[in-house]
Amino acid sequence: MNRSLVLILSSLILLSACKGNAQQQVATPAVQLDSAQLIRDLQFLSSPSLEGRLVGTEGNKQARDYIAARFDSLGLAKPDSGRFQQFPARNNATGVNVLGFIKGSQFPGQYYVISAHYDHLGKKGDKIYTGADDNASGSAALLAMAAWFKQHPPKHSIIFAAFDAEEGGLMGSKYFAGNPSVDIKKIVFNLNMDMVSRSDKNEIYASGTFHYPFLAKYIDSIRPLTKIQVTLGHDDSTKGAHDDWTSQSDHFSFHQKNIPFIYFGVEDHPDYHQPTDSFEKVNKSFYFQVCQMIGQTAALLDRQEKLK
Ligand SMILES: [Zn+2]
Repeated sequence: MNRSLVLILSSLILLSACKGNAQQQVATPAVQLDSAQLIRDLQFLSSPSLEGRLVGTEGNKQARDYIAARFDSLGLAKPDSGRFQQFPARNNATGVNVLGFIKGSQFPGQYYVISAHYDHLGKKGDKIYTGADDNASGSAALLAMAAWFKQHPPKHSIIFAAFDAEEGGLMGSKYFAGNPSVDIKKIVFNLNMDMVSRSDKNEIYASGTFHYPFLAKYIDSIRPLTKIQVTLGHDDSTKGAHDDWTSQSDHFSFHQKNIPFIYFGVEDHPDYHQPTDSFEKVNKSFYFQVCQMIGQTAALLDRQEKLK
């Protein structure tokens, strides 16, 4: 990765929240992710040798082992349930979520879950669905954020969840939410990433604030720090089922448990769920800037004593 891609975000954001007469200002540290490592992780996870990472396959296992090895090398702890969480998936396959954990320094009893699914569609005949955008991009972003928070310990406890078997049923996240490694009442927020690496419009959606309007102000305060267009939406069912992404990725499993979420993702592109969703098609500059923005959002949210 070219160093010119490394954008230094402004060092402070001030978020003002008025409570009666008292004004509380919250500073957020700059987030600097490792762009070269991010692209290396993306390239491995979307490589054709993983044959599309379909749940239950050898390529899926290679992706899982890679993510687990990266969690290990970062020194990420395991939740009580362990690094791997197995569950029954379709066609007698066994799905496996990969989990990492950092205990909060100030509010250890409140858990945030940062998530991305690592599975994809596999192969059909000789066509390999490498799923670079969907969702090697979110998985590599998850690793980058885990690395950053390991270096900059969070106030809240954070579970980093690489979910399996999202394609065709959100099965990994459903299992996680039904069998959480901590009391589900302690999970207060989900940040989900799915398709975050390319957009002809230089745009990404932060979805979920229709359901949880109190989260919109945090996105508003991040927006001036990035050249990416960050748009709220795709979460209002009254605009039609096609427009509403509420049930379209793993954040839905948290929403069903009344856990607030923000989902980051781009609009569908011509390569969506096609063999052409490849590493080469990823806009590396856009992708890195998006990851920085999402990291900044996570850091800002972590600074809040309570999300309200
Ligand atoms: Zn996906």
